[in-house]
Amino acid sequence: ERFKVGLTRTRQNIGGKIDTLIKSTRKIDEDFFEELEDILIQADVGMNTSIELVDKIRTAVKKQKINDPAEVTDLIKEAIREILDTEEVPLNIADEKPTVILVVGVNGAGKTTSIAKLANRFKKQDKRVILAAGDTFRAAAIDQLQIWADRVGVELVKHQEGADPGAVVFDAISAAKARKADILIIDTAGRLQNKANLMKEISKVRKVIEKEIPAAPHEVLLVLDATTGQNAISQAKIFKEATGVSGIILTKLDGTAKGGIVIAVARELSIPVKMVGIGEGIEDLREFSPSVFAQAIFE
Ligand code: GDP
Repeated sequence: ERFKVGLTRTRQNIGGKIDTLIKSTRKIDEDFFEELEDILIQADVGMNTSIELVDKIRTAVKKQKINDPAEVTDLIKEAIREILDTEEVPLNIADEKPTVILVVGVNGAGKTTSIAKLANRFKKQDKRVILAAGDTFRAAAIDQLQIWADRVGVELVKHQEGADPGAVVFDAISAAKARKADILIIDTAGRLQNKANLMKEISKVRKVIEKEIPAAPHEVLLVLDATTGQNAISQAKIFKEATGVSGIILTKLDGTAKGGIVIAVARELSIPVKMVGIGEGIEDLREFSPSVFAQAIFE
């Protein structure tokens, strides 16, 4: 299926290399584990997480007294699944309308596209969706979101370029309540060059939301670009500290051979990866499943 196609490059890089390693291994020894660790680190799994994964695999090999290298593949899959948490973590949908989803991330990460993909998903589930153009800094961001909103067929609440994002959000919440919308998805600015301002702006938006709907936002989704590797992790740490993040949308997984970043992100940030982007099309967003991912890396 489409998810597997999106992971083609990662599969070649991780699964393919591990396969080759296993086929050329006679005896499972320390060299084997070291090479395994190298493969994982090169695929952006991250140093600490790679060591942790290999430790798990080494322990399992000893415990189960495994001598045949071919049997290690299953242990690797299992270890990846475990480290990612066994279950997928679905988006939090509120009992009372509207569910408010705040979307944060730096420009270029795929925020606008992911918002459109999310809106499309909800719309297909017969949910009424409203978008809010909370990034008022760039006229292009507002225009781009409008194009997507039209394409998906959902309403966009927007103000002029330079307007107060808090005011946009206030209007969007009023609109969502008035139209009995199920879902309100709010875009935010993403200029990381001006970190302090960016974080101030997002926290202001958050306050407006909380004032109008105390239980909201129900999700704060951080959009991260998988192709930026370890950089994505440092960005995430900044956002996590400044605004709190309830889930991650990892985009452009199709554009990297280093899909191991999924594991690093989930592990090192302790924030669940909830969705992954696997292409530029409107349908190219999937719920992230650790077990499907662990499986897809190898076949
Ligand atoms: P924003 O600045 O964060 O709003 O980023 P955009 O949503 O405009 O996306 C930036 C670029 O990344 C666009 O060319 C998108 O088509 C592309 N993009 C977004 N998500 C994905 C994805 O999952 N896979 C691929 N291949 N491209 C993506």
